[in-house]
Amino acid sequence: MNTLFPKYSKRQDGCFTIMEQKLLKQVNNLVQDNSKCTGCGICSEACPEEAISIGPVGAYRRGAIEYGSPIQVDETKCSYCGVCVVMCPFNAMSLEIDGEAKLPILEKEGFPVYDMVTEIDHEKCSQCTTCEDVCPREAIIRDVPLFEGTDIFGLKKAEAVNANTEFTCNDEKCTYCGLCGEICQAIDVVRKPFTPETGVLDGEVIWNKDFCDGCQICQSICPNEAIEVKRGKIEKKLNNSGLVEIESEECCTCRWCAISCPTEAITVNKIFEGEITFNPSKCPGGCSTCYEVCPANAIYMPTPKAPADMHNEVEAKIAVNKDFCVLCGACVNSCPSEDAIVLKRTAVHMKGKKTDLFKKIEAKLLVPRTSKVREDKDVFGKAQVKAL
Ligand code: SF4
Ligand code: SF4
Ligand code: SF4
Ligand code: SF4
Ligand code: SF4
Repeated sequence: MNTLFPKYSKRQDGCFTIMEQKLLKQVNNLVQDNSKCTGCGICSEACPEEAISIGPVGAYRRGAIEYGSPIQVDETKCSYCGVCVVMCPFNAMSLEIDGEAKLPILEKEGFPVYDMVTEIDHEKCSQCTTCEDVCPREAIIRDVPLFEGTDIFGLKKAEAVNANTEFTCNDEKCTYCGLCGEICQAIDVVRKPFTPETGVLDGEVIWNKDFCDGCQICQSICPNEAIEVKRGKIEKKLNNSGLVEIESEECCTCRWCAISCPTEAITVNKIFEGEITFNPSKCPGGCSTCYEVCPANAIYMPTPKAPADMHNEVEAKIAVNKDFCVLCGACVNSCPSEDAIVLKRTAVHMKGKKTDLFKKIEAKLLVPRTSKVREDKDVFGKAQVKAL
């Protein structure tokens, strides 16, 4: 019997925890990125070897534990199968075989993957900043070049809009008073020399389109209503050479971007279906752990109602916007109050053949669960979650 192999070890490298299995001719590493792990526990339910346990999710995600992890992988129980890599909705796990990222379970054995829809219709997208600003996972790549045009009195931003401007000055009305030229660097009023021969003020109003940002102040200020500035849009996009994309590996399908996009250019379908309920009477308020762990920015503290509007209701200290919730379960795994949060998944959207192993995992993921985090009586630092 060979007692030298397999050899197991675990090490920390920055935000990564690296589990290692050394075989005679192969080294397997399971790499956990703790900066991405939300503590949702889906890997723990998916692991066929029961090698993953949920740790102090709330404490870790709130930064109370500096060198910790929301989940723990037992490197000696792990078979380095890669199921957790496929099932993690937050791209927090990866498998390396002899130093190369590989997933034999997908490449050779067969296993379904999440059926994610994360699309941007580039015809409709105006390349604005909305989706990038609302995305809680930094999954939007907004590659829109900065405008590099004229830089006069900080007018870069206005110039960045693709617009055309037409300027006309009616000679019949203009008295060449010079007011417009005084307030705008795009206008120069050139007077002809005064001569007693004609006795009238004459001249020319010269407009430089490169310096005009179409603000129309000259039109408003002209005492003789001689100026007309027409502004037109050439192109709705900021810059035609730019592109906005969703990096689907980083997307958790929260739909913040799809709901917020002003041009309805985004389609995102969630990977889980189901229901989440917050029970305000069970939440003592003040802890806000779920609010801090939620990876989808779906939990909020409602604005207090005026006493006259309460009608004997229990004031909700915490609430969820179901449009954005991805039913990941991180809040349930971190909430210390029994039954304050109830999560019931009803479907997991996958593509590819549902293998027997996947069907077992799916059955576990669909078990309703409710919050009551408590420490495992046998294992220090391991948390348990209550099934309904
Ligand atoms: Fe596991 Fe969830 Fe963390 Fe991914 S994000 S590693 S599934 S606990
Ligand atoms: Fe479990 Fe497989 Fe992940 Fe190891 S690689 S922790 S056995 S799911
Ligand atoms: Fe703006 Fe929508 Fe385009 Fe995002 S997809 S940049 S929100 S228009
Ligand atoms: Fe970001 Fe959510 Fe949109 Fe995905 S669905 S790109 S995580 S805002
Ligand atoms: Fe996950 Fe939804 Fe809970 Fe946020 S509210 S942690 S998205 S289950």
